[in-house]
Amino acid sequence: MQTIAGFDRIGEENAFAVLARAGELAAAGRDIINLGIGQPDFPTPENIVEAAVRALRDGHHGYTPATGLPALREAVAGDLDRRFGVDVSPDRVIVVPGGKITMFAAILMFGEPGAEILYPDPGFPIYRSMIEFTGATPVPVPIREGMGFAVSAEETLSLVTPRTRLLILNSPANPCGGVTPRAEIDRLVVGLADHPQVAVMSDEIYDQILYDGEEHVTLLGYPQIRDRLILLNGWSKTYAMTGWRMGYSVWPDGLYDKVRKLAVNAWSCVNAPSQYAAIEALTGPQDAVLAMVDEFDARRKLVVDGLNALPGVSCVVPKGAFYTFPNIGATGWKAKPLASALLERAGVATIGGPDFGILGEGYIRLSYAASRDDIAQALHRMDDFLRTGQP
Ligand code: PLP
Repeated sequence: MQTIAGFDRIGEENAFAVLARAGELAAAGRDIINLGIGQPDFPTPENIVEAAVRALRDGHHGYTPATGLPALREAVAGDLDRRFGVDVSPDRVIVVPGGKITMFAAILMFGEPGAEILYPDPGFPIYRSMIEFTGATPVPVPIREGMGFAVSAEETLSLVTPRTRLLILNSPANPCGGVTPRAEIDRLVVGLADHPQVAVMSDEIYDQILYDGEEHVTLLGYPQIRDRLILLNGWSKTYAMTGWRMGYSVWPDGLYDKVRKLAVNAWSCVNAPSQYAAIEALTGPQDAVLAMVDEFDARRKLVVDGLNALPGVSCVVPKGAFYTFPNIGATGWKAKPLASALLERAGVATIGGPDFGILGEGYIRLSYAASRDDIAQALHRMDDFLRTGQP
């Protein structure tokens, strides 16, 4: 059956295929350690779970406003003010079913044949997939190991043309764990003044998962681009809520009503009990978040030290999120065959770097959202494998 051409170009997120394959192998009796999928391995904090259960018991089972419960939009605005001192009106916040929906909406709004959209490479694979779906031209912005996987303002600006409609930024970043420093973001924003036709979507979903005293620099803090800035954020990573499908975005005046109408057409509203849980997440105690980040930090050290001790592997210390992106160039393996062999032969699920973009060749991604025991065991298996396995 003939469908629109976009469906022949739409891509995927290979992490889900690896998750499925790891599940099959485990079901067949293999002992598999999953460092593939990017989700916290902690349970959602109890107070958040309770808030959802209470909401259902209190009869909150119906539609909510398409943009989200007013109390939740106020809680989001309050949280952004508390953490960053930025003034965001709750009327510019929309609650959406997961972080991905914001990139879906933003890319649909600006993508069309002839338009160019800049996105990070290596980067979250759905950016490129959605750009291709719309028929726009994907323009990769290289994310380089030599810069600690931070965005280069100069290189980004050099790729802007009169056809550029949208620039996608992501810090802290998946898959490399890079954090773009304030000075680089300052330079980027200054340069964007020469390109008023370029909207910016800043994916800040890992904004609370930072190490070594790194501060998060939100693009909301730059008034000069607020009229063309879309902020993507959500509860999935910070509060261990990936399966709840809770995200939010902040949109400028001229775009907010368009995304509101898309919500009315596509998903009506996000499920009500999850919205009550999300209010509790933002307004209740935050100690579970701090404890999770502390634990990620301890694992980060374990995984980076372990990777750097493997033959042919070197690993930059990530500053945020919960991923490492080790360089495997000196192992003699290409990245995807290595990831596949590690899963099939050593029982360790990772993702090949090319699943995150052309510049991902020579790297694999490991998520350290797994227990310390599992990480230690996975490193041990990788060490054995790299010493004996042949490409
Ligand atoms: N943005 C980035 C950079 C991500 O890594 C992810 C998930 O892995 C998302 C957005 C999507 O988050 P969600 O699961 O809430 O849709």
